[in-house]
Parts: sequence; structure tokens; C-alpha cells
Amino acid sequence: MKHIQLTNSSLLVLEKGEELHEVLKRFAEENDLKGAWLSGLGASSDLEIGLYDIEAREYRWKTYSEPLEILQLTGNQSVIEGEPFWHVHGSFSGRDLRAIGGHVKRLVVGVTCELHIVPLETELTRTYDESTGLKLLN
Ligand code: ZN
Repeated sequence: MKHIQLTNSSLLVLEKGEELHEVLKRFAEENDLKGAWLSGLGASSDLEIGLYDIEAREYRWKTYSEPLEILQLTGNQSVIEGEPFWHVHGSFSGRDLRAIGGHVKRLVVGVTCELHIVPLETELTRTYDESTGLKLLN
């Protein structure tokens, strides 16, 4: 991962084979981030995305082990019990150029992944919400 520090934000360039959440967690820990917002694009080689089934109160996951374009990543980082937690959604496309998307559980970088991360001045925290079964932003 290459890191370019801008005045109030960072550009991260991930390399082929790096896993998105591992890099993001390490970056948040090393930079003591209390809250951040991210956007990005690139390519993935292994991907697991899902939809939260509100009735069943669990995620429905689907994996894609072929090269995909990362059309758009968007997400935020909060703190849960002292640990950085990244919530990332993304849209992707394959050879047919049709978009798929969802909550990103695991993303292994294909060719590259270019991220813009903006640290927030306010600490973001999450608390378990009984009605949805999710840890929602406070
Ligand atoms: Zn989500």
C-alpha cells in the first residue's frame, strides 16, 4: 500500500492481493482515526458482498472470484469498543458491464485500488440497535 498525505486527507493506493478491510484497519490504527469517510475505485479479484435481510436479521452473502471493476466504494470508519470499524459498500461490474453491489465483507484487490480517506473531526461510534439487529451510528 502506498500512502500519499494531503493537507486534510489521504490517498491510499492498494496493491494486487491486498485485502481492503485489513489495510483499512491497519491504516486507522496507525493514524489513530476516530472517524473517517472514504471513496474509491479500482479492481477486485475476490469479493464477498451482501445484503442485510432485515426480516431474518442476517446478511445474505455472495462471492465473486473473477476479475471485477470496482465502480465505486463508499464507506465510513467508526470506533466500536476502542477498535476501528469500517463500514463499506460498493458497486462492481464484470465482463457484461452490468452493475452488482452490496455491503462489502471481503475484497481482495485485483490490479489496483485507489482510495481517498477524509478523517473527521468528530469521533464516530456505533451502538447495537435492538429493532434492526445492527450496530448503527450514534
Ligand atoms: Zn452495510
